[in-house]
Amino acid sequence: MYKKGILLDRDGVIIENREDYVKNTSEVKILPGVREAITSLWMENYIVCIITNQSGVSKGLYSEKDVKDIHRFIEKELCHEISGPIFWYYCPHQDKDKCTCRKPNSGLLEKAISDHNFCSENTWMVGDNIRDIEAGRKAQCQTCLVLTGLGKSFNKPKMSLVPHKVCHDLYEFVEQILTEEEESL
Ligand SMILES: [Mg+2]
Ligand SMILES: [Zn+2]
Repeated sequence: MYKKGILLDRDGVIIENREDYVKNTSEVKILPGVREAITSLWMENYIVCIITNQSGVSKGLYSEKDVKDIHRFIEKELCHEISGPIFWYYCPHQDKDKCTCRKPNSGLLEKAISDHNFCSENTWMVGDNIRDIEAGRKAQCQTCLVLTGLGKSFNKPKMSLVPHKVCHDLYEFVEQILTEEEESL
């Protein structure tokens, strides 16, 4: 049996994007509706994975410990009466490091899919950047571009990079997939 999974980008989807990188917990701002959206996913037994490019590590702007501290902080902000686990996957490299985990490469998506036994064709990758859509397509996932963060400047990409869905934000995306799931039962 496959498990139900969801792959989310972090900056611009869960928390506010910062041009100068989110370097410490004081710079973390959870976007509106995110807490409610994640709670709904947990209530419907989705396994939530967050997949994030953190090239600031390779650039020496912050450490891997800072990244992990930020992730613990986000978990605390999202968890209340109803809470579930969040599985974190981050790439500390930059383009010039030529790794296989930095989106638009699909290494981390494939790892999450295999770690949790998701069915890639039924798994959504949600991001605010065309890199997220490209990575999702490579991993054979469904893809959604959200118009928060960098998604605001979205304009028609190459056909191969067209997302399966475009939503205003994570909240709208979650509402839509949960409604579609209910209708298919
Ligand atoms: Mg992003
Ligand atoms: Zn990497």
